[in-house]
Amino acid sequence: MIKDLLPRQVVCNERNAKGKPCHGKLKRYYPFAGYYNEPDKTLRQEIESEFGKKKTLVLLKCEECAVVFRLPGELKVKFG
Ligand SMILES: [Zn+2]
Repeated sequence: MIKDLLPRQVVCNERNAKGKPCHGKLKRYYPFAGYYNEPDKTLRQEIESEFGKKKTLVLLKCEECAVVFRLPGELKVKFG
């Protein structure tokens, strides 16, 4: 699943089975960089169909539940 990062969002807002927000840490994530390609085939295809297979593509991924977030334009600067 790929979600939109909300303004000022710094932790994961995906809800778990009990309906509680995950609050996992969001890490920068390069799904197609040579040294670490996304191992989940379904997720890789989802990302590739939306963004293309760019090595420089940067998204955010939750360390707890592995949900992927799109970076809005203004956050691209902050996260590099
Ligand atoms: Zn999460």
